[in-house]
Amino acid sequence: MYYEKDADLGVLKGKTIAIIGYGSQGHAQAQNLRDSGLNVVIGLRPGKSWDTAKNDGFEVLSVEDAARRADVINILLPDETQPKVYSQSIEPNLKSGAAIMFSHGFNINFGQIRPTADKDIFMIAPKSPGHMVRRTYVEGFGVPALIAVEQNATGQAYEIGLAYAKGIGSTRAGVIETTFREETETDLFGEQAVLCGGTSALVKAGFETLIEAGYQPEVAYFECLHELKLIVDMMYEGGLASMRHSISNTAEYGDYVTGPRIITAETKAEMKRVLEDIQTGKFSRNFLLDQSNGAFMHATRRKEAEHPIEQVGGSLRELMHWIKK
Ligand code: NDP
Ligand code: MG
Ligand code: MG
Repeated sequence: MYYEKDADLGVLKGKTIAIIGYGSQGHAQAQNLRDSGLNVVIGLRPGKSWDTAKNDGFEVLSVEDAARRADVINILLPDETQPKVYSQSIEPNLKSGAAIMFSHGFNINFGQIRPTADKDIFMIAPKSPGHMVRRTYVEGFGVPALIAVEQNATGQAYEIGLAYAKGIGSTRAGVIETTFREETETDLFGEQAVLCGGTSALVKAGFETLIEAGYQPEVAYFECLHELKLIVDMMYEGGLASMRHSISNTAEYGDYVTGPRIITAETKAEMKRVLEDIQTGKFSRNFLLDQSNGAFMHATRRKEAEHPIEQVGGSLRELMHWIKK
């Protein structure tokens, strides 16, 4: 773990940091770095983010001009957009010895971006969405982050990376060392098997089982989707044991006897195959292929939006005044 004492902001003083993209991560990291006294310019195309960054008081440039100015450049565009923008607008304009940064390892790990040997390549990956990166910094804290160095051309990659992590507030919480490979593969696995894919499929299957048995969709929605947040919040704050301490004994007993009937040895064997598809690059190849026209993604998005859980959820959430519309 690296902390405040391991990082020296002075390494970045007098240097220009170009933040490419001003979305979830871009806006948060740029504002934190500026409040830490560092020089930040934003690289964008004309559009919504451009106007937001200007209104927030930043110097906003084309991606080409931002790349020309950069001593350190952090590419915070959507992962599938990065390779094209890198080859067309960033690479031809970068200074020799510039440091190229990411907040996710996808494009380096899967060889979609291959910077020349004279550049430092490293990642500072905050373990949080952008609005938390900003909010915790303003409150005087920070979110934990990962650091990984892929190419240390100048011999200074760690010093620059840790200074950047300090600039966004992450050394206040702690910075853990990893590799591009570990960060990318575990991130993809987690979101597919557990966080997004696994959870959505579990929620839908539970909901369908109840309505197919004749129960009211509204009641099924509460039991299988709505209450998930309460359980996840308890797991987040105190782990599994603390969640099990808070629920009823009936729920705890049901957890132990039924959990292994739902997530079986066969499920875990399938998880291993999912991980293999990530490690061999099969998943990323399929993803990038589909992104070229988005056929599967768009069709599935439409189909999923028509699921009854979405219809009933839409009406029920209207009744929940505390949920932002
Ligand atoms: P967002 O989708 O929130 O923002 C993307 C930004 O890129 C927008 O400002 C968009 O501007 C701009 N952009 C898109 N296409 C172009 C283009 N062709 N030229 C110039 N600008 C463009 O991205 P995220 O912040 O979610 O993700 C950025 C990186 O951070 C990714 O590598 C992601 O994996 C990583 N990450 C994200 C986390 C998160 O919580 N979101 C967490 C940790 C890492 P416009 O308004 O013009 O479309
Ligand atoms: Mg991810
Ligand atoms: Mg209940």
